[in-house]
Amino acid sequence: MPVEHLFCLRCRREIEAGHKSVAVYMFAQTVGIRPRQKSAAQRICFCPPCSVSLAMGPAPDGALNVAAWEMLRDLVSSDPALNEAAWNNLRGIIGLLPAAATGGRSRRAIASGYFEF
Ligand SMILES: [Zn+2]
Repeated sequence: MPVEHLFCLRCRREIEAGHKSVAVYMFAQTVGIRPRQKSAAQRICFCPPCSVSLAMGPAPDGALNVAAWEMLRDLVSSDPALNEAAWNNLRGIIGLLPAAATGGRSRRAIASGYFEF
């Protein structure tokens, strides 16, 4: 099996193997129809900040989006671990900035790159 390159569906950042993320698995299956058919499973990934941001945000349009949103809300609201992972991601990005740049243009550039989905 080739090495899987996973990207956050929302911000497109690569999720490296072993890094924290939320995976949503989806497959379709026929019911009451013979022969029974089952599609291949899709795996959709979100990085922790996007997971928390989506869960905290307003309900999206579309039944499938609402179903995914409710699952993310369930995860985010049931334990603070995912919030902590998102918080650590954010701190990691801020921590990469040189101290002199934190008040100036670079910080805004990075912040806007980070929040433009
Ligand atoms: Zn993301």
